[in-house]
Amino acid sequence: MSKSADAVVIGGGIVGLSNAYWLAKRGLKVVLVESGDLVAGTSARCDGNNYICDTAPGEITQTMKLAVSEVENLVKHELDADVDWIENGMFTLAENEEQYEQAKKQCAEKQADGVKCRMVDRKELHEAEPNLAPDIYGAIEFTEGGSLSPILFGFALGDKVESLGGEIWRFTRVIGIELNPDGSVGKVLTDKGDIVTKHVVDAAGVWSPAIGKMVGVDIPVTMMKGDILVAESDVKVSNRYVCEIGYNFLRNDMKLDGDDAIRQKYGIGFLTEPTGANNALIGFSKYPATDTRTNFEVTRAMAKRAIRFYPMIANVNIIRTYAGLRPWSPDHEPIISKTKVPGFYVCSGHCGSGIAYGPLSGKLIMQMILGEETDVKMDRFDLYRF
Ligand SMILES: Cc1cc2nc3c(=O)[nH]c(=O)nc-3n(C[C@H](O)[C@H](O)[C@H](O)COP(=O)(O)OP(=O)(O)OC[C@H]3O[C@@H](n4cnc5c(N)ncnc54)[C@H](O)[C@@H]3O)c2cc1C
Repeated sequence: MSKSADAVVIGGGIVGLSNAYWLAKRGLKVVLVESGDLVAGTSARCDGNNYICDTAPGEITQTMKLAVSEVENLVKHELDADVDWIENGMFTLAENEEQYEQAKKQCAEKQADGVKCRMVDRKELHEAEPNLAPDIYGAIEFTEGGSLSPILFGFALGDKVESLGGEIWRFTRVIGIELNPDGSVGKVLTDKGDIVTKHVVDAAGVWSPAIGKMVGVDIPVTMMKGDILVAESDVKVSNRYVCEIGYNFLRNDMKLDGDDAIRQKYGIGFLTEPTGANNALIGFSKYPATDTRTNFEVTRAMAKRAIRFYPMIANVNIIRTYAGLRPWSPDHEPIISKTKVPGFYVCSGHCGSGIAYGPLSGKLIMQMILGEETDVKMDRFDLYRF
């Protein structure tokens, strides 16, 4: 006999878990199906930054503010486990006077959107970050948000889903979706049995297009690789999350300053993020690829870039590297949407912000499923906007 559920969520990354959390919290009988263990995909191969430092002004920044406050609320008031939440604020660095002027403009735009940030001059910056290269000119400080361990966050969300009555089917692969004669969602087929349901949320990250194909829905999500260096835990690199201003350009597909061909080819920039375990995460890259193998040309260039900002990194042992595949959407905005198939929803394409955006995305899908007014206008996230 098939099992039945009010809703099935496909994918146990931060986005799928956030969907299951909201649906279970509102009393729906929900089953989350994940082909590996929880947080088996991109959500375990990323940083855990939840700051509002690199969004375009206006509606996009306002929505990110809401997204970050949802994460903070979950971490501080809802989840029962410690997720290594750190809220020391962050610095966006300006290398020289010209970048400092650009930074001032960005800071003013963010302040106009109500984001808590301010300019920090050279003296104050170097007092706060003594390991920085002496010529770094200044920074914007952002104080809203924080960082966390996405893996701990994922497992804490999983525990919460189960404590709210939701079911999680680990190591279970979705192999098909059957539609009813009227074209609506009818049944999810897995390699461990079927689930009869009226609502399916495709939260399978870079694999969401394959799930969409099962019901004839095209999802324009591609893979955008990013690498990270992990430092030994005996050394403290920075006191807070720090990135170069060029990182904002990279995340938004703008051209970098300078003529370093490797950096241009692989979108290499500098960031460093302290973690609860004291292993600093270092570096940023962004290029289309479909595998998560280490590319030494990339990691070498990332290390070189990091040493430019924190020269002491030259003497720090890098204990490992890893890479993840960002679920990339054509306009860098997530897809949080109903589809032409009644009952089939897409929650994917979160690019470089799925940890920060996951909880809000899950709430919006829950509101659509329950027919409630959504917290934000949904046109920007609609699948058929492309
Ligand atoms: C290097 C890097 C740094 C990043 N830094 C940040 C950051 O600082 N802050 C931030 O907010 N975001 C960051 N991101 C982005 C963030 O990691 C992603 O947006 C987010 O993890 C996507 O989550 P997801 O749940 O959609 O996908 P995933 O975590 O990939 O989850 C999808 C799940 O679906 C499962 N699945 C696939 N097919 C099936 C099937 N047929 N049946 C069952 N299950 C299936 C997979 O096993 C997987 O676990 C970063 C990404 C990278 C690569």
